[in-house]
Amino acid sequence: MLIIRLLALLAVLWTGKQVVKQVSGMLHPEREGRDSSAPENVQDDMVKDPVCSTYIPKSLARHKEFDGEMYYFCSDECVTKFMEQHSTPSEAEEHHHVV
Ligand SMILES: [Zn+2]
Repeated sequence: MLIIRLLALLAVLWTGKQVVKQVSGMLHPEREGRDSSAPENVQDDMVKDPVCSTYIPKSLARHKEFDGEMYYFCSDECVTKFMEQHSTPSEAEEHHHVV
């Protein structure tokens, strides 16, 4: 009967170890998780293209400052379109007068 008692003792020791492992495992990842999530501050904001109303991640968007405001576009095509729409016609007229 000594073997059974030894086995029982081992089982108790083993389960005790598992409990300690689980408890420390529950505490550890929480601390590590907070540390690793800290440098992940590069959040990709979605911005709206005013020309074609498409939403694009800020990091991929073309940006253009116009009238003190920053505008974001999905493509260079939309930037050109926007600038054409918002360009002042007086500039072209002035050119015409000079020539
Ligand atoms: Zn666009």
